[in-house]
Amino acid sequence: MAQYMEIKAANPDSLLFYRMGDFYELFFKDAEIAAQALAITLTKRGKHLGEDIPMCGVPVHSADDYLQKLISLGHRVAVCEQTEDPAEAKKRGSKSVVRRDVIRLVTPGTLTEERLLDASRSNYLLALTRARSGSLDETQSFGLAWIDISTGAFRVAESDAETLSADIARIDPREIVVSDNLLDDAELRRLLNDLPASLSPVPRALFDGATAADRLSHYFGVRTLDGFGSFSRIELSAAGGALSYVEKTQIGNRPPLDPPSREAGDGRMLIDPATRANLELMRTLSGERGGSLLAAIDRTVTGAGSRLLAARLAGPLLDIDAIHRRQDAVELFHSETMLRERLREYLKAAPDMARALSRLALDRGGPRDLLALAEGLSSAQAIANLLARHGALPAEVDAARESLAETPYDLGQELSHALTDEPPLLKRDGGFVAEGYSADLDDLRRLRDDSRKVIARMQADLSQELALRSLKIKHNNVLGWFIEVPTMQAEKLSADPARFIHRQTMAGAMRFTTTELADLESKIASAGERALALELEVFAKLQGQVIAAGDLIKKGADALSILDVATALAVLAEAENYVRPRVDGSLAFDIKGGRHPVVEQALRRQGGDPFVANDVDLGGEGGDGDGRIWLITGPNMAGKSTYLRQNALIAILAQMGAFVPARDAHIGVVDRLFSRVGAAEDLARGRSTFMVEMVETAAILNQAGPRSLVILDEIGRGTATFDGLSIAWAAIEHLHEINRSRALFATHYHELTALSARLERLSNATVRVKEWEGDVIFLHEIAPGAADRSYGIQVARLAGLPASVVERARAVLDQLEEQDRQKPVETLIDDLPLFAAVPQKPAASATTAEASDELGEALDAVDPDDMTPREALDALYELKRKR
Ligand code: ADP
Repeated sequence: MAQYMEIKAANPDSLLFYRMGDFYELFFKDAEIAAQALAITLTKRGKHLGEDIPMCGVPVHSADDYLQKLISLGHRVAVCEQTEDPAEAKKRGSKSVVRRDVIRLVTPGTLTEERLLDASRSNYLLALTRARSGSLDETQSFGLAWIDISTGAFRVAESDAETLSADIARIDPREIVVSDNLLDDAELRRLLNDLPASLSPVPRALFDGATAADRLSHYFGVRTLDGFGSFSRIELSAAGGALSYVEKTQIGNRPPLDPPSREAGDGRMLIDPATRANLELMRTLSGERGGSLLAAIDRTVTGAGSRLLAARLAGPLLDIDAIHRRQDAVELFHSETMLRERLREYLKAAPDMARALSRLALDRGGPRDLLALAEGLSSAQAIANLLARHGALPAEVDAARESLAETPYDLGQELSHALTDEPPLLKRDGGFVAEGYSADLDDLRRLRDDSRKVIARMQADLSQELALRSLKIKHNNVLGWFIEVPTMQAEKLSADPARFIHRQTMAGAMRFTTTELADLESKIASAGERALALELEVFAKLQGQVIAAGDLIKKGADALSILDVATALAVLAEAENYVRPRVDGSLAFDIKGGRHPVVEQALRRQGGDPFVANDVDLGGEGGDGDGRIWLITGPNMAGKSTYLRQNALIAILAQMGAFVPARDAHIGVVDRLFSRVGAAEDLARGRSTFMVEMVETAAILNQAGPRSLVILDEIGRGTATFDGLSIAWAAIEHLHEINRSRALFATHYHELTALSARLERLSNATVRVKEWEGDVIFLHEIAPGAADRSYGIQVARLAGLPASVVERARAVLDQLEEQDRQKPVETLIDDLPLFAAVPQKPAASATTAEASDELGEALDAVDPDDMTPREALDALYELKRKR
């Protein structure tokens, strides 16, 4: 108990899995939490200070399942093992307790076990740090470093207050490590709490910028980090923090990490979390993968490929050359179908090498991980050869071929030679080294097998000698080998106790042994033990070789995933009839025959009418100049949202390097994608639908620029008609005059279509419908012009509103329309001067009252406890300047 208390005290935030023989046991509060979370029995064991100690336990062999459950519920687990043989403890004295130690902290962001991981999802641990601002008006900057210890990926980036949430959403980490003092900032705390990642506050010292570089160079065994690129101080601090956390949780084990690197092709399309969620890129609004864009386009055949595809989808590129390189690879496999299909056969046979390698390096690997590498390396060589025979290859494919050609061929051969076809999961079970690999092992196994034959002969001899046909020689774990005869016939053996030593009396049988049998028994047992020891030696040797070749293996694994993605996108393009989009530095957004990738597939599955393709052209003159705004009207259910979203999705697909669902597409790189679609209630945060809508709209109008693509659906719907109309009106003017972005704006306010007369880059479009015998038929076709009416009552009728209500609604509508004719809203357009298109900046010559107000605000922002004397002095100057 004293030992338990000590270890628990050192790990207060984790549930302590305390190893006791074949179980992990939990005590006290931990036991209560775990018993409830895992639905296992809570019992008692011993007393502490006169009270019963609550206890529960899970068997070691099925611990992974329980771990998974606890981790998914947001708990952290400290795994405490026996670190010596119980026999050792006995030697120290009869009262000695077996030594135990925590060997690993299991947290959501540091998992490696196959069963705890999702094969198609990266498992990132993100470390976040903030630069202490030097002066008052300096913007905050953040350092981000993210690691997936299951594959070794290690990246860093800088971010700022405006882009932070978009950057984190793109990385999509499972766990975020921050210095605890950062959480004092209420806004940052709210931002982090809103993310679907578990938050782990750590002491500030973990992020110490001064020692970060040393810590990193030490880990990677280099004198200086210069060889990995140059990093800002804040990136180093984040990288140091991430690495410290890995070391802290892995306790002495070193995962094989890549050196930290800034993301290649610097710069990704910025997509804020709301847009990401609304467009259902990685999962649907209800949180499932099925129904998302990712699910619709994923044709990869390996886990690593699926993870890479998700990463590319999460971060579409801005670098045009890099986009073209990816497109070239897809195009190759789009035209060379034979090559592609053969390559995919090899890929299918290639297991997840990166994850197997990580487990082996962390000493959590088993024989199946070695086998995975054997198979992976053999696929790697086969693919390298296949590609080498092809002649000229696009750059991305050729680079992959080269990495594959450099994978250690001999090691792969050795592993295949060494391992059986279906090895056990755990190395301690033995039986994974193939026959013919080790002569010593083969000898021992022969001895064991021969002994079995000797036993069979012994049984035959004895039963003949004693004339007992029912005499059997059997084995169980308690007695080992023994002779068994029915009690009725046991006299012959009992009569000769010098030869037949009695072991056990059962209900209907008696069991004996002989010295001869006992000898054989110990021979078999020791042969078995020696064989296992030899197998473990072989394992350790192979494991060492694999780790030594880790870098090459990892490069090979990356190359496989790149090829998987390129071939999968080609398969997608062929199966779904996608085209290669022209992506360049213009401001074009010209799509012919565009389709919604998810809805199109869904409609086909349902077997109904096919998806109706639609065009869009938001580019200025010749694709240059300022972007256009299309204002789309049409009744509910006509297909406005679908159309808006499909265009955003096509931009994302184009810039991730994929082909797109269209007949033809020309897209000038989009740097930021903004959307305000759907109406997600955010009641948990006390915001109404309308408030959420306005917050998102505000973010767009404040940030969108000429390279952005903006998708706005039904702005102002959540409030009274005239309020809503006015807000939508003003938002369009702002988009047109200030943001000058390429934009699609769907609305049910037909009044807005009048704006096109005044705003030169605004065009009206409508989704066509047909009326037939009082019903409305949706054509889903976008055409120039404005909708004449909203058909709300027809749609309501389709939805099954009672006939009496529909009739009454018609009558009310007629009256309202009559009144409206007296003063149509269109006349407003003449009454209102054009929106004053001046950004609202504080006036240069502020009055004293305004100045003192500004002073007050600046003073409020100062936190003397968090400043160095130098910063305090700077702040003072700044305040004086404001006066
Ligand atoms: P709105 O936003 O105008 O209310 P939606 O975009 O939600 O309409 O579309 C309503 C339904 O119409 C969708 O669920 C989809 O099944 C169908 N739909 C939309 N666009 C198309 C299209 N281009 N071709 C075929 N069906 C479509």
